[in-house]
Amino acid sequence: MSMTAICVFCGSSRGTSFEYAAAAERLGKAFTEQQINLVYGGSNVGLMGITAKKVLQGGMHVTGVITEAINARVGALEGTELHVVRTMHERKAMMAELCEGFIALPGGIGTLEELTEVFTWSQLGIHAKPLGLLNIRGYYDPFTAFLEHMVKEGFLRKEHLETLLIDEDPEKLLDKMQNFRYAYQSKWNN
Ligand code: AMP
Repeated sequence: MSMTAICVFCGSSRGTSFEYAAAAERLGKAFTEQQINLVYGGSNVGLMGITAKKVLQGGMHVTGVITEAINARVGALEGTELHVVRTMHERKAMMAELCEGFIALPGGIGTLEELTEVFTWSQLGIHAKPLGLLNIRGYYDPFTAFLEHMVKEGFLRKEHLETLLIDEDPEKLLDKMQNFRYAYQSKWNN
């Protein structure tokens, strides 16, 4: 069954290269071409705003989940179904519930935190949804090198690392996600 809603984690900044904003637009366009609705952090700033705007323009549904505190400081996009919650924990839980898969575009520490949380939940069998990294300009190369280091040093199972889907092209990444079949591999039997 194909995915109808994907949660995107990405920078509340735009980054220093125009390639990041271009990739956010390409991802938004790919969502509308494949009839995928967007779930995201609900603001109009940085790559977040660019992705959401493109998905809205393409006529697909956008759900934003934001905390009261962040909502008081940034704007929302008109046309978004906005859920304002109290805490970051509530926000992430709701975003995870509303989607069938996750994509991380380049971003900062907030993006990293969100993507490592859903990666952790996947290895624990809490969810079975695909997680994709959109690796623009090799942005995530140092991160994936660190994950390989974790495997080499015996802190991360190779099978778990292999569940992380990586591509520099939004459409190819979506294809990988659509074809993903979750197989639980226990973290504990080593
Ligand atoms: P960062 O990567 O540090 O820019 O943080 C981006 C991620 O954290 C997003 O996926 C959001 O869920 C959350 N976040 C951080 N800052 C904001 C903001 N100004 N507005 C909405 N969400 C934000």
